[in-house]
Amino acid sequence: MEDCIFCKIIESKIPCSKIYENEQVLAFLDINPAAPGHTLVVPKKHSMNITDIDFNTLGQCIGAIKNLAPKIMKAVNATGFNIGMNNFKSSGQAVMHSHFHIIPRKENDGLMLPRQGKYKEGEIEEIKNKIIKELD
Ligand code: AMP
Repeated sequence: MEDCIFCKIIESKIPCSKIYENEQVLAFLDINPAAPGHTLVVPKKHSMNITDIDFNTLGQCIGAIKNLAPKIMKAVNATGFNIGMNNFKSSGQAVMHSHFHIIPRKENDGLMLPRQGKYKEGEIEEIKNKIIKELD
C-alpha cells in the first residue's frame, strides 16, 4: 500500500533489522525498543489491524510469534516476553499496518503494564452485558 511505512519495509524500499522472513510474514527489530530484542511481526499482506486482517494471515503471524518469541527471549537473556498489538490510534497504534510486538522481559525490569482500574458498584455486570450484546 502506498504511503505505508511497513509496506515499504516489506518491499525493501526502506531498510530494517530483519530477523526472520517467510512468504507471509516479516519480523524485524523495533527501531525504538521497549527492551532489547523488541521485535515486530508484520504480515506482508496489508491490513490495518485485527479488524480487517484475514484469518489465514493472522494464523501465519501467530505461528511466527510462537516460533520466534522463545528464541528472541533466549538470545537477549530474557526470562519472559509480552506479545502485544495496538488497534486504532487511541490504543497507541502509530503504524496503520497490522503488526504484533514481541517484548522480551526480565524480572524487575521496570516495564509496567498498569492494571489498577476499579469498577464502580454494578459496572462490571453492565459492561459484561454490553459486550455480550455486541457478540449476538
Ligand atoms: P504501534 O504503536 O503499535 O503502531 O507500533 C509501531 C512501532 O513501529 C513502534 O514501536 C515504532 O518504534 C516502530 N517503527 C516505526 N518505524 C519503524 C522502522 N522504520 N523500523 C523499525 N520499527 C519502526
